[in-house]
Amino acid sequence: MTRKTISILLISALLAVNSCKPDYSGESGRAKALKLHMGLLTVDSHTDTPLRLFRPGTDLSVRSDPRRGGGKLDFPRMEEGGLDGVFFAVFVAQRERTPEGNTYARGRALAIFDSIHAVVVRNSEYAEIALSSSDLRAINKRGKKAVYIGMENGFPIARDLSMVSRFYSLGVRYITLCHTSNNDICDSSTDEGGPEHGGLSEFGREVVAEMNRLGIMVDVSHISDQAFYDVIEMSSAPVIASHSNARAVCDNPRNLSDDMLLKLAANGGVIQLCVLSDYTAQTEPYPGRDSARQAVMDKYGDWEMLDDSTRNLLFTEWYALDEKFPPRLATVSQFCDHVDHIVDLIGIDHVGFGSDFDGGAGLADCFDESELPNITLELLRRGYSRSDLQKFWSGNLLRVMKEVEQAAASTS
Ligand SMILES: [Zn+2]
Repeated sequence: MTRKTISILLISALLAVNSCKPDYSGESGRAKALKLHMGLLTVDSHTDTPLRLFRPGTDLSVRSDPRRGGGKLDFPRMEEGGLDGVFFAVFVAQRERTPEGNTYARGRALAIFDSIHAVVVRNSEYAEIALSSSDLRAINKRGKKAVYIGMENGFPIARDLSMVSRFYSLGVRYITLCHTSNNDICDSSTDEGGPEHGGLSEFGREVVAEMNRLGIMVDVSHISDQAFYDVIEMSSAPVIASHSNARAVCDNPRNLSDDMLLKLAANGGVIQLCVLSDYTAQTEPYPGRDSARQAVMDKYGDWEMLDDSTRNLLFTEWYALDEKFPPRLATVSQFCDHVDHIVDLIGIDHVGFGSDFDGGAGLADCFDESELPNITLELLRRGYSRSDLQKFWSGNLLRVMKEVEQAAASTS
């Protein structure tokens, strides 16, 4: 065979490979991507939908309109978005760490657990409570949505280690150690007063050990960088960041730096990327909207301290501003830049998705759960394969969850 023949053969082989590459452009490409997306097993690792369960008129069996103050998740829109499972967050805002504050936090958390269990019972034709890494597939096979429970902010543990196993028995499978302020467990990445413990506190170490023992995933979203490093050093099982992005792509203390991502991969953990615009990309200043929002906040004060009915009034006014000042949001393409960056840095096995819908999330072209297929479409256009997408959409998180279960089983 001459050199020329070999070159011709090589070129035609390359062309053949190229022409086999699926084309996801245009409307037919979109339809092909949607079909592929619907065939994936999918889970969203973080939503604050339980906050809405205390709002009168909330019915998760009915499709609501998030552009008119409705929520971003309900069972009809999970179906439209091809979403098979979701983590509902038991979120309790940080307040004073006094005996009264602690009692409040615990009572509030228990009320939220009740409301989640009640909503699943009320919608038992659509959903079931999920407790283990194998439940997502099992519940999906029964034609229902899996509802997992996470806890956002360890405040309700309130210095009583026995509460960790109590929450486990109520279904909790991850705990985000803190929220936007420091607590008794660790420092937050966003506390205006700066660090208090220099990372994880002594009590926080006991909490992490207890979570490892029980098989509850440790969630490092929201915690300070030093607290992250402390957790990575002491956790005997892989950890998750249930809703954070890459700091190198969008500089925000809530996002993980490259060094943290490398440590997370070495730990075997996973970062679940959120679609919260401010953590995805810096958008243009919007002073009209900012000052209108500030006026609402000034009127009501700290929303986290309000009773349910006053908070509902605030939410109504807050969302009404979207009509006058339509939000300028980051895009799915900018979101996928985080995926590209992380995959380049630590490979395909440590990324997943945790939207933070109903907790402030929403992109211009992924505004609620029904628009999740737009993420799959963009990633297919960028050359990711079906098996990559399966890892992102649940494989990586379920692997971590299973390892956490096994590590707990081996110590008991
Ligand atoms: Zn959060």
